[in-house]
Amino acid sequence: MNFHVMTLFPDMVKNGLMTSIIGRAVENNYISINTYDIRDYTTDKHRKVDDYPYGGGAGMLMQAQPVFDCAKAVKERIGHDARVIFMTPQGRTFNQRIAEELAGEEDLIFLCGHYEGIDERVLEEIVTDEISIGDYVLTGGEMAAMIVIDAVSRLVPGVLSNEDSGVIESFSGNLLEYPQYSRPEVWMGKGVPEVLLSGNHKEIEKWRLETAKERTARKRPDLYAKYERECEIIKYLNAEKAINSDMTEAIRLNRLRVIYDSNGAVALVDTAKTKVLLYAKDVAGIGEFYDFAKENGLDKVPVLLRGTNPGPLLEQGFKLSGEYKEVAYTRGVPIGTKEVVDDVTGNIRNEINDLLLTGELPIKLVPVNEAETLSVYEKLQFRISKKSLYFCEPLC
Ligand code: SAM
Repeated sequence: MNFHVMTLFPDMVKNGLMTSIIGRAVENNYISINTYDIRDYTTDKHRKVDDYPYGGGAGMLMQAQPVFDCAKAVKERIGHDARVIFMTPQGRTFNQRIAEELAGEEDLIFLCGHYEGIDERVLEEIVTDEISIGDYVLTGGEMAAMIVIDAVSRLVPGVLSNEDSGVIESFSGNLLEYPQYSRPEVWMGKGVPEVLLSGNHKEIEKWRLETAKERTARKRPDLYAKYERECEIIKYLNAEKAINSDMTEAIRLNRLRVIYDSNGAVALVDTAKTKVLLYAKDVAGIGEFYDFAKENGLDKVPVLLRGTNPGPLLEQGFKLSGEYKEVAYTRGVPIGTKEVVDDVTGNIRNEINDLLLTGELPIKLVPVNEAETLSVYEKLQFRISKKSLYFCEPLC
């Protein structure tokens, strides 16, 4: 992933980021950090980039021309269009969700303001996103951009030595991280919680969840309320386990976000908004979801529907592109060699056993007309949904 930072103080950005984990990630080519000195693009012979604001008022303003020409040069270098993020106290407040969304991009361009800000006209021309790092005012956007780059980089595969550590920490779900301890076992008379020394991984996981819940409820009741709501949604979806395992797993592993939950319908979406997973108890639920989707710019996103028939979506400009059964391997224990009778079962066995090692529930969607494939899964004791899942794509 490549970060491009337009700034009047490139050294500040480079020096601030080129150490420790992020510095190593650059050296190992997992990410690149490219700075562009906006001053290099001014047409002013004295290299001036700021001027007084029209109408009076305190301070100076960065002028439109150097910023515009700098952005043009960055895009030419990248060779394709990319999101241009203006760091500003007026933007969306940065959080882990936004970091996850940005981590899906190949190139990101940051624009750092200084002085009293930047001429509005160039912002209108080039900016696609505005991000704030909180409700306070800094002297410049450099530190703000560095914070965003740091948080996004940690989500790029390979940047953290143990990829898991990016998944299970504070904010990745709605729980804060549990307390952690390292050597020595006793420090200043304080011991490490007994369970962590037990070697019993089940008990350790249980303790970690409980302490994470306790501290989230105490420190961040707002987040805890979201966590509790998510638990209720999982319980609700589990009433039709056979068709909803993909949804509950996606919530559990923090892969998809609940964006809608009303009138017997639950919808999840990925950060790049490429697909919606929708459970609706009845057709009325779909209709109401569709109104929500229109209001939130999701009405052109493909929907994987389950729970009821897709009629209302087909009336709203979607076409049915596929009908599937959900197959899930729920036995937990690895599939043995005895069950392998040919290449097909052998491949499934390897794939499933690999997934079990990562702690994921192996789930697949198989087209209803592939009876032979379905019978292989049946022989391997997969749970096969009686009801279908419908993949509906927008017509245009
Ligand atoms: N006059 C501007 C306003 O009220 O919106 C603030 C200008 S500030 C002094 C200078 C620059 O610092 C801004 O253009 C922006 O790039 C950056 N900045 C300041 N506070 C920020 C924040 N909370 N988040 C992100 N960037 C910030």
